[in-house]
Amino acid sequence: MTTEPATLYCENHPNVETTLRCNRCEKPICAKCAVLTETGYRCTDCVRSQQKTFDTATTIDYILSISIAVILAYIGSLLSSRIGFFTIFVAPIAGIVIAEAIRRAIRRRRSKRLFKATAAATALGGILPVLSILALTGLTIGITGIFFFIWPVVYTVIVTSTVYYRLAGISL
Ligand SMILES: [Zn+2]
Ligand SMILES: [Zn+2]
Repeated sequence: MTTEPATLYCENHPNVETTLRCNRCEKPICAKCAVLTETGYRCTDCVRSQQKTFDTATTIDYILSISIAVILAYIGSLLSSRIGFFTIFVAPIAGIVIAEAIRRAIRRRRSKRLFKATAAATALGGILPVLSILALTGLTIGITGIFFFIWPVVYTVIVTSTVYYRLAGISL
């Protein structure tokens, strides 16, 4: 171990004594300047520069991903009310198809925020047929109606999580 100077001072606040160092660039930082990340304390500069490299998505990526997710999830949801029980098998495949279509559209760019937005768009697309029928019937669907909605809802849950984990999983 190297000998540490007796007292460290925060690089941003030269009057503040500290024992913390950024675990990336090693500069001394006080408690106010330290940001707790998944890998330990980091200075705000390092956190900022890292967010930039992890968030390379453009506005077009958002538009593309959200449109693809809403449209494909919507089509899948309409199908699921017809195929019923088979939704359990078809929904994960639909999720993979949607995630792959989006990956192709955004190429190698990635962003956690984009993946979350895409998952939300998938959920919206999936639940849209249910909402539109609810709106048309004015909530007077009764028990048979609820039964009809089970599969689109199951589909939406499965497809949304598949899309999110496929997109976010490969980005780590
Ligand atoms: Zn740093
Ligand atoms: Zn400080």
